[in-house]
Amino acid sequence: MTTHSATLAIDEAVQARRAAGHDVLHLGFGEAGLPVPPGLAEVLADAHSSNGYGPVAGSPRARTAAAGWFARRGLPTEPDQVLFAPGSKPLLFALLAAIGGDVVLPRPAWVSYAAQAALLGRRVVSVPVPAEAGGIPDPERLAAELGRAAAAGARPGVLVLTVPDNPTGTIAPAEQVAAVCRIAERHGLAVVSDEIYAELSHGGAVPSPARYLPERTVVTTGLSKSLALGGWRIGFARLPAGGWGRRLRQELTGVASEIWSSLAAPMQAVAAHALDEPPEITAHVAASRRLHGRVAREAHGLLQLAGADCRRPQAGFYLYPDFAPVRGALSARGITTGSGLAAALLDRHGVATLPGSAFGEPDTALTLRIATSLLYGTTARQRHAALAAEE
Ligand code: PLP
Repeated sequence: MTTHSATLAIDEAVQARRAAGHDVLHLGFGEAGLPVPPGLAEVLADAHSSNGYGPVAGSPRARTAAAGWFARRGLPTEPDQVLFAPGSKPLLFALLAAIGGDVVLPRPAWVSYAAQAALLGRRVVSVPVPAEAGGIPDPERLAAELGRAAAAGARPGVLVLTVPDNPTGTIAPAEQVAAVCRIAERHGLAVVSDEIYAELSHGGAVPSPARYLPERTVVTTGLSKSLALGGWRIGFARLPAGGWGRRLRQELTGVASEIWSSLAAPMQAVAAHALDEPPEITAHVAASRRLHGRVAREAHGLLQLAGADCRRPQAGFYLYPDFAPVRGALSARGITTGSGLAAALLDRHGVATLPGSAFGEPDTALTLRIATSLLYGTTARQRHAALAAEE
């Protein structure tokens, strides 16, 4: 049986506890926790009569806007390299289906990649990555794991990287990304680079693998995090130029045509408008980035005070503390695993988090993923106020 996605499951558990009258501090769910950016509700209202089906990859208008958006980020892109989807999650699933082969993942990695590989009947080749490495494996370790996997009968086809990383909230150095791309190329792997947090870097440059392995890297992203539009379900991909990219586009469009047909037409209008980056959208993203960065840094300070080993957050709104330095004190309270720690925090203190095991770590690791973005408030008014303070 397929398990329920850990992130959605914790959110539902929190909502159920709140409905039963319990107070819960929700640090478990990766929702941006901010209001709809200015102007988009009006675009959506104007587009409400767009009720026809559209091209599977997205309208020319939306794909042209996305191509311009990528080009302004240093990745020259033609509109026919772009494909829209109802969120980057189904897009990632469709990509794994279309690319084929077993799936190589750093560990820890975002909850859904391994689950999607399992749904497709693919093996996962897991490469342990220390928290400070920004989700990018050590090239030699990657090569060694690929060799071991091939000897055990796996047929790795795709390496999935999260740049910047979730769960660790960190960004790998460009040289490390380049080195890993060279190993991927040597082993005939495609790279899927999930860059959904790239707009929320707290200052550092985000090294897209598409720069280092241009003909075999697919970039996925969306508006769920940077524009807090998770519930509007807007994701899109940039496929490589060249022969492999063209063949993949055909394959991916085929998969998409059998699953979602096309992104909802009104959402394509929203995407086209937002990706043209009018000044109020740019200002909104900048204020969100400041707020996420400030709150994550404050939480980082608190976690260090609590004795955890925790990297300084570099992007997005996540922290990934390791409580190994206080293992003795925890064990005296009967807590010996990451899931035990998360359960104790929720049951005894009403604080929801996710254990590292949700991200593929062994449960003996006393790691938690903490999302700080739901600290801005539970009402629309509080969230508006939190953002306004950054503008
Ligand atoms: N990729 C990563 C790393 C994420 O953290 C998330 C959401 O939590 C997604 C993809 C999915 O985002 P969406 O389907 O809303 O585009």
